[in-house]
Amino acid sequence: MLVVQKFGGSSLAGAERLRRAAAIISDSAMAGNDVVAVVSARGDTTDELLADAKRISGCPKARELDALLSTGETGSAAMTAMQLADMGHDSVSLSGAQAGIRTDNIHGSARITDIDTGRILRELDAGRIVVVAGFQGIEDNGDTTTLGRGGSDTTAVELAAALGADRCEIYSDVDGIYTADPRLVTGAMRLERIDYGDMLALALHGSQVLHSRSVEAAMRSGVRVHLLSSFTRHEGTVMGFFPDRPALCGVTRDKALSTVSIIGRGADANILAETVGILAHSDIIVTSTELFDGGCSIRVSPDKLLPALELTHRRFFR
Ligand code: ASP
Ligand code: MG
Repeated sequence: MLVVQKFGGSSLAGAERLRRAAAIISDSAMAGNDVVAVVSARGDTTDELLADAKRISGCPKARELDALLSTGETGSAAMTAMQLADMGHDSVSLSGAQAGIRTDNIHGSARITDIDTGRILRELDAGRIVVVAGFQGIEDNGDTTTLGRGGSDTTAVELAAALGADRCEIYSDVDGIYTADPRLVTGAMRLERIDYGDMLALALHGSQVLHSRSVEAAMRSGVRVHLLSSFTRHEGTVMGFFPDRPALCGVTRDKALSTVSIIGRGADANILAETVGILAHSDIIVTSTELFDGGCSIRVSPDKLLPALELTHRRFFR
């Protein structure tokens, strides 16, 4: 089998976690799979690089920002490959450009236009584990681009599609998709499966679990994505086409917009009205509402966002 395994920044922060991620890759290779790993920058590297840039320049050029931010993932890939070599594997790290990932020239939020898989396939043929730097590509002039925050997910899904991978796994610090972010809401329940459409609605309304473009890419190409934790090795959540999906699948908040959204094909005007009513009971004033394809949302003042999220979750998911 050809397996693509992506690791998020928190799964690679520090030597211990990096070893843990490498052990997952190693197990997969030892089981006889061809493995392409995709890695994010370690820990908070991207935020730190952004802060460094701001200290130096009030208005850095997007091209230079991409040149800088991409180093987070490039370094991460090299270190993962080193760790795998230490474990006795033949491994090679590749930048986005080396991996054949071509993009448009919109620096900071480039889209992958095409992937030339030649180099990756040659490395796999030679028996190597390939570690690709996520979040980056190369545009027609040869300049490095980045895909937008969270973009390594998209690198992984697009690679899985281009390579015709048998399995695509995305590892983070949470073991799948929950009815609400389990770090914010007690009693949130893990979903065994989630439909592409529901996941896209979650991603577009504030959930940070997956880059929304990665969901679009998975949907377009029919790649099934297994969302797993590199810490627990639990079951996780499978994202795919699931026509029998539940009427309501979860709630999410968007901090920037100060909204809480209820996601699911059954989240209609009645659910919206009920939500406004429940919140009014707790003295939370809803300042605006919206019905959209696949869900509904309410806006509250920023200090009421978390209580509104908890109350909404309690009403519909417990
Ligand atoms: N390192 C980038 C970010 O922090 C990309 C990613 O992790 O997916 O947004
Ligand atoms: Mg992410």
